[in-house]
Amino acid sequence: MAEYAIQAPPIVALPVAGIEKQFPVRRVYCIGRNYAAHAIEMGHDPDREPPFFFQKNANNLDISGEFLYPPKSSDVHHEIEMAVMLKSGGKNIAQAQALEHVFGYALCLDMTRRDLQGVAKKSGRPWEIGKAFERSAPVGVIHTVDEVGHVDQGRVELKVNGEIKQEGDLNQMIWKVPEMIAYLSEYFELDAGDVILSGTPAGVGPIVKGDTMAVSIEGLGAMTVPVV
Ligand code: MN
Repeated sequence: MAEYAIQAPPIVALPVAGIEKQFPVRRVYCIGRNYAAHAIEMGHDPDREPPFFFQKNANNLDISGEFLYPPKSSDVHHEIEMAVMLKSGGKNIAQAQALEHVFGYALCLDMTRRDLQGVAKKSGRPWEIGKAFERSAPVGVIHTVDEVGHVDQGRVELKVNGEIKQEGDLNQMIWKVPEMIAYLSEYFELDAGDVILSGTPAGVGPIVKGDTMAVSIEGLGAMTVPVV
């Protein structure tokens, strides 16, 4: 076993419904504008242009059950998304085989410092400052394919303080899960532990400290996330 010159960072691991073993996270890929109504609300053409992805860090995934309002922003937005967890990977995965690599699915939030993301977009800079901050991706328990099958339709809903802000259906994704896996695998070597956030339906908007987000995806349960 290797000895490290400094203390090694912990492996990020997520709980899995029904089993005691956890899911170790390797990488987090996030698709942008994957629901037409959300693309339109962000000022873009919803036509099916090639997908694009950004990344969050493994340790941005957060199972604390609370969202910690981040520094340096006064416009933090909620984005409810389905997370797809991979148990294997590879390069140039065919769409027809893509779902064989899926371990399970979970509720997730792609929390966004929209003001900082807006500056980055305008100046052609990377998005990490708006997207990849500490605890920026509250995530629920993983439901395995063995438990729930492959999830490709079902109501997606996010409420803030009891009021519905985002709603849609997983079947409205422009790029479906097998297409995302196949596309990503042309550019990156995917592997066990990779997580893909599959995009958010319309209705993104700001939250403030003291708010409570209640999110649900049909088949994947519900989660309540206070903003602290
Ligand atoms: Mn997103």
